[in-house]
Amino acid sequence: MGSRYHSTSVQTVVIGGGQAGVAVGHYLAKRGLPFLILDANQNIGDAWRQRWDSLRLFTPARYAGLPGLRFPGRGDSFPTKDQVADYLGEYARRFQLPVRNGIRVDRLWRENGRFTHSAGAHRFEADNVVVAMANYQAPRLPDFARDLRPDIVQLHAQDYRRPSQLQAGGVLIVGLGNSGADIAIEVAQSHPTLISGKESGHIPWRIESFLARNVLIRLVRFVGHHVLSLKTPIGKKLRPKMLHRAAPLIRVKPPDLIDTGIEFVQKVAGTKDGLPLLADGQIREVQNVIWCTGYQRGFPWIDLPIFDNQGDAIHENGIVRDVPGLYFVGLHFLYSMTSATLTGVGRDALRVVNALAARAKYQKRKPADLLSAEVHRSSESVSLDSGRVPVSA
Ligand code: FAD
Repeated sequence: MGSRYHSTSVQTVVIGGGQAGVAVGHYLAKRGLPFLILDANQNIGDAWRQRWDSLRLFTPARYAGLPGLRFPGRGDSFPTKDQVADYLGEYARRFQLPVRNGIRVDRLWRENGRFTHSAGAHRFEADNVVVAMANYQAPRLPDFARDLRPDIVQLHAQDYRRPSQLQAGGVLIVGLGNSGADIAIEVAQSHPTLISGKESGHIPWRIESFLARNVLIRLVRFVGHHVLSLKTPIGKKLRPKMLHRAAPLIRVKPPDLIDTGIEFVQKVAGTKDGLPLLADGQIREVQNVIWCTGYQRGFPWIDLPIFDNQGDAIHENGIVRDVPGLYFVGLHFLYSMTSATLTGVGRDALRVVNALAARAKYQKRKPADLLSAEVHRSSESVSLDSGRVPVSA
């Protein structure tokens, strides 16, 4: 018994339909280049929608819009995560971007001079691929997390939504970055809370103040967007350090944590008898642990020799020189400090699409125009439509 799968050929595949993917799509559509956006989630904006309920942007609406569509509402307000998700859905609809949701690429490789992607029973072939997504895809937890007692509720920040997911009793937050600090403040309203980790500095003013919303934020954005970029000597010098350093605390300050009654504890070094063991030898009996420990590096599904020994993709401004036709958008400090944010991703998308368009111009192959070819191998067949695909949002 053979297998029947469906193969789709298109000039460019964009993997990821979050803000990076739709910004790339916007510029590809503007240039009239054929493309398809593939996204694992069921709806555009789900990466934002699935974050914790109380999350608000730290960037005001005036800096949250993508190219061609301003973010609705007052420029100095801080949008909720659901407003960002809705905005991204509207963006894709407005520009009629061909997004296929519910398709997770499980392998990307090169075959016969083209990129090939498999996504379950689907196969996509393309001359160009843009991997459009932030580094925040796969949660990172220490190995000893699995040694915690099974009756302890443990979650990664990616899965945390609200305090009602926790059981009564103490909560240990592991990691003092922005996620850890925000979540700690929230859960401390209803649970005795401990936080472990080293703060990586903090912004010394209240981002909600009038001065910050209207003046200071512009300065911060200017520095992040124009000064700390690969165009300046200081940006080039600092990039290697910034790539792997946690961002400073933005909304919550250390005194806020103290005022809320949160206890600062030492690094979590392991477990003892199923309980968290701290670096100073203390064992803390908590009923909940929230791992705010960041995300794994790399893209294990990319089967191409483009990674350094730390697992980071080697690229120049998002262009992978060793594998022509492969691009990244959305990565932390791809070009500047704002590259992984709403305010910076559009500029990177434009640069990458310009490079891709120049390459497409010289490709000998006549661009395949969303040509869909059915390949019959078995009775288990999947049928995909050909042509432009409606946006599912
Ligand atoms: P993502 O939003 O991660 O989208 C990637 C998409 O790719 C997802 O939809 C996913 O389903 C899909 N995908 C992944 N792998 C595959 C695959 N193999 N095949 C198919 N599809 C795949 N930025 C700001 O500007 N302001 C803020 O206030 C702000 N707050 C943040 C708060 C938190 C807690 C976090 C984690 C980040 C925050 N950011 C903020 C940073 C950044 O804007 C977001 O992470 C944003 O979601 C990144 O968008 P993206 O499109 O690059 O990647």
